[in-house]
Amino acid sequence: MDHADLARHTPLMRQYFAAKAEYPQTLLFFRMGDFYELFYDDARKVARLLDITLTQRGESAGAPIPMAGVPWHAAESYLAKLVRAGESVAICEQIGDPNGKGPMERKVVRVVTPGTVTDEALLPERRDNLLLAIARGSDGYGLAWADLASGRFVLSEVPDDAALGAELARLAPAETLVGEDAAMPQAVASLTGLRQRPPWHFDETSAARELTAFFGTRDLAGFGADGLHAAIGAAGCLLQYLKETQKAALPHLIGLSVENADETLAMDAATRRNLELDTHATGDARYTLLGVLDATITPMGARMLRRWLHRPLRDRAVLRARHQALGALIDARAFEPLREKLRAIGDLERILSRVALRSARPRDLATLRDGLAAAPGLRETLQTLVSPLLHGLVQRIGDHPDTAWLLAQAIVERPPMLLRDGGAIADGYDAELDELRQLATNADQYLVELEARERAATGIATLKVGYNRVHGYYIEFGKSHDTRAPAHYIRRQTTKNAERYITEELKTFEDKVLSAKERSLMRERALYDGVLDALIEKLAPLKDAAAAIAELDVLADLAERADTLDWNAPQLVDEPCIAIERGRHPVVEQVRNEPFEPNDLTLDDTRRMLVITGPNMGGKSTYMRQNALIVLLAHIGSYVPATRATIGPIDRIFTRIGAGDDLARGQSTFMVEMSETANILHNATARSLVLMDEVGRGTSTYDGLALARAAAVHLATVNGAFTLFATHYFELTELAAQFDTIANVHLDAVEYHDAKQGDQLVFMHAVKDGPANRSFGLQVAALAGLPKAVIADAKQTLAELERGAQGSSSNKPSAKGAASPQSDLFAAPTTDPKLLELAEALRTLDPDAMTPKEALDALYRLKRSSP
Ligand code: ADP
Repeated sequence: MDHADLARHTPLMRQYFAAKAEYPQTLLFFRMGDFYELFYDDARKVARLLDITLTQRGESAGAPIPMAGVPWHAAESYLAKLVRAGESVAICEQIGDPNGKGPMERKVVRVVTPGTVTDEALLPERRDNLLLAIARGSDGYGLAWADLASGRFVLSEVPDDAALGAELARLAPAETLVGEDAAMPQAVASLTGLRQRPPWHFDETSAARELTAFFGTRDLAGFGADGLHAAIGAAGCLLQYLKETQKAALPHLIGLSVENADETLAMDAATRRNLELDTHATGDARYTLLGVLDATITPMGARMLRRWLHRPLRDRAVLRARHQALGALIDARAFEPLREKLRAIGDLERILSRVALRSARPRDLATLRDGLAAAPGLRETLQTLVSPLLHGLVQRIGDHPDTAWLLAQAIVERPPMLLRDGGAIADGYDAELDELRQLATNADQYLVELEARERAATGIATLKVGYNRVHGYYIEFGKSHDTRAPAHYIRRQTTKNAERYITEELKTFEDKVLSAKERSLMRERALYDGVLDALIEKLAPLKDAAAAIAELDVLADLAERADTLDWNAPQLVDEPCIAIERGRHPVVEQVRNEPFEPNDLTLDDTRRMLVITGPNMGGKSTYMRQNALIVLLAHIGSYVPATRATIGPIDRIFTRIGAGDDLARGQSTFMVEMSETANILHNATARSLVLMDEVGRGTSTYDGLALARAAAVHLATVNGAFTLFATHYFELTELAAQFDTIANVHLDAVEYHDAKQGDQLVFMHAVKDGPANRSFGLQVAALAGLPKAVIADAKQTLAELERGAQGSSSNKPSAKGAASPQSDLFAAPTTDPKLLELAEALRTLDPDAMTPKEALDALYRLKRSSP
């Protein structure tokens, strides 16, 4: 908008444009009376996002102004929606004199962005809300993220796009800052809440200077940030953004921490999804590992547990200490009283952040007070337990007698919602406030006393104290007593029968009473600020106490879960192995009505890969996933769903698990499958756990088998990774004979005949040695509801094919040469590919992959083509 244009607008709109110019990428909430109004593109956008009406406001510069508005008292819920949609909002308030001339003065007082919100109402309670900055480095990317609501500020670096994708999946940032000119992979481009920042904000030298100034340190070495370049650039950008948006001091960002990739058991984005750690395709969190695992009491505990789950550790000393602490909590059943006591403790972590940002509300302080009062109870519960970890946590919780005393004295038992409502500071805390309140509420009493005193002093029995709106307070008596008025009485008004006076004392009282309400609110604000100052002074130890309580909550949770769900302590050993006895799938076990069949797993140096065969629905995926989840749980310090689990050093978990509709989705799925597989083959080590489910299904039969076989051989011979390889390709069972470290296992089903129901199939879900001996595709299809006639037809065709295979020999490359539906299926490459395809469809008829109609069509086509 140039000047000539601007001049044609109304003064109000000129004011709007001036404010908007400073926040071009941000929605501007422009306060007008009881509404926040939005104009032009902002109005169109919010009308869509919030589903509110787009209207018009008069005209400016000869054109109507599109406008949409939200009432200010309900702004919070609209803000929450916008922030969730990844939008930022600048809030422009009226700050001038309402009776002045021209448009009232306005100013942006607050910028709410998805990654920096700290208001309780705008935040998800049980997950972190992160602001992330990504900088491109000479090799890889530097990351910096902050959780303003808890005061964490973390740096890390990743070597490549895949690792960046894994970090994005782990952190799930609410808002992400990238350089305007920086080339970023698709995983970044598709994030919600993406913000472009000028490239110089990422400059490492000025970033380091800004950061040391901010933290008041000489350099960044003390934070372990030495040698991080891109990450420091990212941190500088992030700090700059915080300063722009927060307009407040950030004393709770106490320091930086650095996360190194080699401290953790790495998992890529696909693996986090495939293992259903905290998301499930149905959107129902109960079907996730976190859903089963999370019975934490406090929100800060819930957030910590989620962080643990997404960042399994490799430091066995830390993990053993956790396992040992769980043992102590379970043996003494101490987790029960501990959890009971945690109920009195709220979200101290976020409250302390709001204290630091000076936005804590009176109820926050009451919660903090009650939490501090409950903390000693936690210690008592743990006193007799033998666990260095638990004792360390108790130490960190500490005593905060000064803070506890201050809060107990200063804050009323049940404070009001808002400070401006008054009544948050307790009586007896401050003499001046007490007097102001006294004045406001006990004015009558005071006047009665004053009246009695003045009567006694003057001897005028009819003396009265009164009040009127024009003249205020007065002392009144009949004109006949006029001469008896003391010298310090000042005449104020004369009425027909009476004279009214004021005294110095009454005047002072009047001033006090009339402004008492206002002044008591001001006094309260000042006292409240003083309390905040005192708390900010103690921020570091208080934050540490909150973190320790959160960790106790997590440990008590894991102990409770282990006890309730009958889990056991895993053994972490130094030899390479994964040996699990009677392992179960933690989630499937919970959501199924029937009993879960436990299964063993043995992998070690001599047995590194299992080729898993068996019918669809037999339990292959469940078995693979449960083993990965057991390994994962052991590495967050949890007990595991198995009677025994002995686990050697593990560095990463990889999964390649195809979606059910791979066949239908075709080429692009195939590309995804291949790039995921390539990533595994490049990166898996002898310490990795790899799950491969149905590799090769995304392509045609020949290619698929060839690729699956090549991948399996590579994993077994080059990577030497611990691998669970589930496959439909029966041919892969032959690998066990060719490679020492590969073995076959299978899952079974039994057929039985039921008089009423006909042929039935029962899945045993038990993992046994050796290859599966036949396929149950047709029976599964029957179970899945394919019409009986179709099944019967299919059976007959299958039998014909089998007969054909027996009758034919290799010199008959006819359609009939399609061979037995199992291992010979791929023996003759000259065989009619169409027939092959159909035969495979028959063999593995998978209710997920084929619709009944497709199966039917396939059979009819097959029949027509058979002589
Ligand atoms: P597959 O991968 O062989 O097709 P799944 O692992 O998907 O089979 O298992 C199919 C169903 O069987 C699962 O949804 C689960 O309900 C059940 N299931 C799997 N394993 C077990 C088990 N060990 N005990 C009981 N039920 C199981």
